[in-house]
Amino acid sequence: MINDILKRAKAEEPLSLDDLEALLSITAPEELQALYNVAYTIKDQHVGRVAYFRGLIECSNLCIKDCYYCGIRRSNENVDRFQMDEEEIFKEALWAYEAEYGSCVIQSGERQDEVYISMIERVVKRISKATKGEMGITLSLGEQSEEVYNRWKTAGAHRYLLRIETTNPELFAKIHPEDHSIEVRKKCLAALRRTGYQVGTGVMMGLPGQTMEDLAKDILFLKDIDIDMVGMGPYIPHSDTPMGKEVPAYTDKEKKSALTLGLKMIAVTRIVLKDINIAAATALQALEYTGREQGLKCGANVIMPNLTETEFRPKYQLYDDKPCIDENSAMCRGCLSGRIKGIGEEVGFNERGDSPHFKSRNSK
Ligand code: SAH
Repeated sequence: MINDILKRAKAEEPLSLDDLEALLSITAPEELQALYNVAYTIKDQHVGRVAYFRGLIECSNLCIKDCYYCGIRRSNENVDRFQMDEEEIFKEALWAYEAEYGSCVIQSGERQDEVYISMIERVVKRISKATKGEMGITLSLGEQSEEVYNRWKTAGAHRYLLRIETTNPELFAKIHPEDHSIEVRKKCLAALRRTGYQVGTGVMMGLPGQTMEDLAKDILFLKDIDIDMVGMGPYIPHSDTPMGKEVPAYTDKEKKSALTLGLKMIAVTRIVLKDINIAAATALQALEYTGREQGLKCGANVIMPNLTETEFRPKYQLYDDKPCIDENSAMCRGCLSGRIKGIGEEVGFNERGDSPHFKSRNSK
């Protein structure tokens, strides 16, 4: 049966919900490899064997939200809170530009106050001007009003990443406090689309109680909203969170199966969505050292080397065992470039690497 589905996948025939669920449920090693191979062929045909770098600036761990899974949630008193100033963010973005990264990502906990909003607006403008509008600027700054999304877009940002986390409303309600709403997330995604960003979303895989059917539906949701980019990753418990306290840290066996699920999701998403950008999330590497390269081999084409100053890295731990926290930007550049060459791919230095899907959507 799997063979038949993969044959249809390779022929680029549409797959049903049941087909996706069957692919996500694969456990046999030879079937897994066959799935990854089909996804890689489709990646090769639609986006090529190039990995694009997005230098990641984790500019603040202050957060007004209280997500039950996240290490920097408002109620976690063990977090040493920090906020980079405008100069620091600018300096890191410029470092990325000079290091020939085509794009940067500015990410933080969520803040909706005007001081923060206008600081981001100013720094985006500065980065845009200093890089002659050449460098791609992605924001990952949570839920905001359409007006704020507009201001940041006008300042020079190109892309926005806001994960839906899960499209199952009951599961969403279980992993968030009552005042966090899946409907608000959906409205934000619609507002981002109207504003003209390349829009990215994604989910966490392996949440307690999540089924393969949930994940298959998540992929169909990405298709339904005609997404341009996907950033998704395995859920990894953080010991200082309500969800992390309920379970012991992952055993090696659990790490392996969380990684496999992450890779299967990337592969099936590539098979269904073909010409979008898919990130190999850093969380893959928290599970296994080569997790991110494995993500590229299963269909991802974007990787996010960390640009955050080493001093801040231990303070931005969304989950336990986050990798590279004692390294610096230059080390991450060298290490990741070498590892990408090692799997026979090129790094798209000095290229923005916009989502081909976004381009074709806009040329219609
Ligand atoms: N505040 C911003 C961006 C920072 S959080 C926002 O909400 O968009 C970025 C992502 O990290 C979240 O969307 C979530 O999917 C992921 N994340 C948080 N805690 C995690 C955990 N314990 N394991 C894996 N991923 C996690």
